[in-house]
Amino acid sequence: MNRKLEIVITELEVITQLRKVAAVLAWDQETYMPSGSAQARSEQISLVLSLAHARFTSDTFRQSLAILVDLDGGAIDRDGLDLRQVRLLENVWHDWRRATALPVEFVGELARLTSQAQHVWQEARAQNDYARFSPYLEKIIDMKRQEARFHGFEDEPYDALLEDYETGITTKQIEQLFAVLRPALIELVGRIKSSKVPDRHALLTQEFPEDLQWEFGMEVLSDMGYDLKKGRQDRSAHPFTTDFHPSDVRITTRLNARDLSMGLFGTIHEGGHALYEQGLEAKYFGTPLCEAISLGIHESQSRLWENYVGRSMPFWRHYYPRLQARFPGQLGAVPLDDFYAAINAVRPSLIRVEADEVTYNLHIMLRFDLERALLNGDVTVKDLPGLWDQAMAKYVGVTPSTVAEGVLQDIHWGMGAIGYFPTYMLGNLYGRQIYEAALAQIDDLEERIAQGDLLTLREWLRDNVHRLGRLKRAGELIQDLTGQPLSAGPFIKYLQAKYERLYDL
Ligand code: ZN
Repeated sequence: MNRKLEIVITELEVITQLRKVAAVLAWDQETYMPSGSAQARSEQISLVLSLAHARFTSDTFRQSLAILVDLDGGAIDRDGLDLRQVRLLENVWHDWRRATALPVEFVGELARLTSQAQHVWQEARAQNDYARFSPYLEKIIDMKRQEARFHGFEDEPYDALLEDYETGITTKQIEQLFAVLRPALIELVGRIKSSKVPDRHALLTQEFPEDLQWEFGMEVLSDMGYDLKKGRQDRSAHPFTTDFHPSDVRITTRLNARDLSMGLFGTIHEGGHALYEQGLEAKYFGTPLCEAISLGIHESQSRLWENYVGRSMPFWRHYYPRLQARFPGQLGAVPLDDFYAAINAVRPSLIRVEADEVTYNLHIMLRFDLERALLNGDVTVKDLPGLWDQAMAKYVGVTPSTVAEGVLQDIHWGMGAIGYFPTYMLGNLYGRQIYEAALAQIDDLEERIAQGDLLTLREWLRDNVHRLGRLKRAGELIQDLTGQPLSAGPFIKYLQAKYERLYDL
């Protein structure tokens, strides 16, 4: 390999190892750490992360990178490099420019502010007290505007913030996708509300012993091809996936004896994230070629497994008898069609994380509209609760009675993660387009799933998505796989076909 490139990669490996050390500490914090050591642990994590940041933004690294890349414009000296290596360097330069755009003092100040704000958010939510949180949110919005100016943007500050989560997408594009989704989803929700088909959701809120739920989840994970020699599942308050290397990718789940869908679909969702990380090429570890493309593509993998596979009829043709065998008293006499209706029940509700497939993107849309307007100065933090409630009533058809189940429900803004929400919507859209490419390219995919063969799909995803790392941008990946650009069309058609049948519309 090119000697100059080798120097850059060797340093990247060290930086990545430091970040992964922090990830191990964070995993432990969320799973087994005694609650009394929170303060000590947060100091340990922030020390390791600051070491990684210092190395990545150091003069030494700048000099090694500058030999291969024009640091101002990003042009690569391609002499002797293949396409993969060029793409690797483009990504490194992108990340390096993002990391060095912000002054060290600014980063420190923002980290202190958001760490306090998350703490205050928790209290404010528990006490249903928006006024307690709003001064922090005001400061966060101010600093985020500043951050956008440091990075620079063409149209509006939101563009600069989106870039951290979904490289290459613009606010305009997101707005256009929502412009297509909005009328279609509102129309579909309206028709479903007037349907006479009975709601079967109560089937899922019987008593389901947690140990049996755990066993069933593990069976599905193992069938999906989640490698338990290179991963494990634990319990945590909020489910997540974390990776230390493709040979160690861990997930967590949350179980509730009175809610079968929480643990079941949470496990399949995190399993989808984990397959992505396990499918990255270990030989490129440390470089962008062993990293996920974007949060949106990551979410496409979890939503694909959770919804397009896990909430489909072919999947349950195979798994329902197995689930019934574990819960004969609860489900033994329940026909598959009723169970299928229960796991796909559309119930407009206040809480995003509990939302069904049809209303989910409406929750995202209202957050996108509000955070963008905040950043542009079109609305104030003070007006937020009222605007939130109005938008919920207009889009989802329900009105929160407290700020805890309204504007204070998500941690994202307290973390300073402005621009993150649209990646959930993108995940649903990318996921649908990718799944339809798989349906077109794999013979009888749904037949295979109905026979319990999930590995064929995993192999296809591994070859066509996972192993590429960041070789392509999200838009490029979708175009290459489907022959079409990113669009809301396939997702809308899928929802209409599925729910028209379910609700007899
Ligand atoms: Zn996810």
